[in-house]
Amino acid sequence: MQLPLIDNSWTLFLDRDGVINEEIRKGYVLHWDMFKFTSGAEEALGIFARRFGHIVVTTNQRCIGKGLLTTAGLQDIHTRMLAAIAPHGGRIDRIYHCPDVDSNSPCRKPQPGMGLQAQQDFPEIDFARSIMVGNTLSDMQFGKNLGMYTVFIPSTLPDLPFPHPLQDARYESLLHFARAIQ
Ligand SMILES: [Mg+2]
Repeated sequence: MQLPLIDNSWTLFLDRDGVINEEIRKGYVLHWDMFKFTSGAEEALGIFARRFGHIVVTTNQRCIGKGLLTTAGLQDIHTRMLAAIAPHGGRIDRIYHCPDVDSNSPCRKPQPGMGLQAQQDFPEIDFARSIMVGNTLSDMQFGKNLGMYTVFIPSTLPDLPFPHPLQDARYESLLHFARAIQ
């Protein structure tokens, strides 16, 4: 499906692991030293900041529920991430995380809880004018559950077929997507 024309009435929802930073296979980012931006992600976030009215991150962080990371530890990683993107003109308006282990938790993607929370915090968010970018089908289902346009980044699932009913578009990386809407 053709990319919509973006203006500042649009909201960007971003998954984190495998999209903004390299996903750690069979593990978690537990401190800043383990956080590595995907190639060009900082530049991409600078482009998004100029295009989108709101930018939020929705990230499942089961490692908290498992006791591997504290909420304060996650916040420290995010504070450093935001500091690292600021020199590129990047901004993220709010970061939502789901700490729960239970796959059926209402906040855990693909359930829509984090999106609904974002809309409560920013009532001007219109899901029909929102794009969800992620690297799993759970992210794509989350976007579709809320009526968003979905963009798939094949960082960890390169063999997933495309076209696909849950994916409206597909880009090699966050930066490739950013350049497409620049
Ligand atoms: Mg991910």
